[in-house]
Amino acid sequence: MKLLQDRIRQDGQVLTETVLKVDTFLNHQVDPMLTMEIGKAFAQKAESAGVTKVLTIEASGIHFAMATAFTLGVPFLYAKKKKAVTLTEDLYTTEVFSFTRQESFQVSVSKRYLNAEDRVLIVDDFLATGDALLGLVEIVRQAGATLVGVGAVVEKSFQDGRAKLEAAGVEIHSLARIRSMSPETGVTFIEETLT
Ligand code: 5GP
Repeated sequence: MKLLQDRIRQDGQVLTETVLKVDTFLNHQVDPMLTMEIGKAFAQKAESAGVTKVLTIEASGIHFAMATAFTLGVPFLYAKKKKAVTLTEDLYTTEVFSFTRQESFQVSVSKRYLNAEDRVLIVDDFLATGDALLGLVEIVRQAGATLVGVGAVVEKSFQDGRAKLEAAGVEIHSLARIRSMSPETGVTFIEETLT
């Protein structure tokens, strides 16, 4: 997605060779126009897949799930993160290791909002090590629902998240795929798009 790639080049801050800061437009201060375009791009990819629910994880996936679900005309659901979940009987839960925080947490979704009839599109802001998205895939599996695919706004293709998701049989659509980055030379994308 050219609009997104241009914005990452313009406003993204490469902190290290593995961490990209995008909090002026994607995940702290948020550009709503760009967010709606991102939602449309995910929705367009999935338009014939009969999606009944868009699933993400709090907090930085929520606005992308909202924009995608709005375009598709379906509800969205965000998994909640907690240090430890005690009462789990009404919940689908799984454990996820956070790349940015370097700690594990529990992710949960109420059984009331996801079931075997659902066709789920998962979206999130970043695909890095893939652990967050794999956690959501596991939640969909626990619900017995059908996973239509995964949409990542930014994929750091030099990390192993895509390989892990592909090994789990998941179809991935990333809007900006970063081949490499460094504070000195900036960001290089895979499949530079012209549109
Ligand atoms: P994972 O490693 O599980 O694929 O990434 C989990 C989460 O870490 C992402 O949803 C995102 O919120 C955060 N994350 C991973 N890499 C980066 C990064 O380079 N920059 C920012 N801002 N967040 C990241």
